[in-house]
Amino acid sequence: MPGSRAIIDGDKCRQEADCPPMENCPANAIINDEGFRYVDNSCRGCKKCVILCPYRAIIMVK
Ligand code: SF4
Repeated sequence: MPGSRAIIDGDKCRQEADCPPMENCPANAIINDEGFRYVDNSCRGCKKCVILCPYRAIIMVK
């Protein structure tokens, strides 16, 4: 979806080592900062991470 980007809901993210969104992001936009996850500006808005997150912790925003 052009113009939108992903953000991570910190209350829902379980910060697991095995993180399908992080492993499959085509832009490597999901950053693991000592366990804390966030999406950086290289997000392309593809929504792949939204589909892959088992905890529905990622949403798209404009
Ligand atoms: S929307 Fe796509 S590019 Fe952006 S963080 Fe999710 S998987 Fe990566």
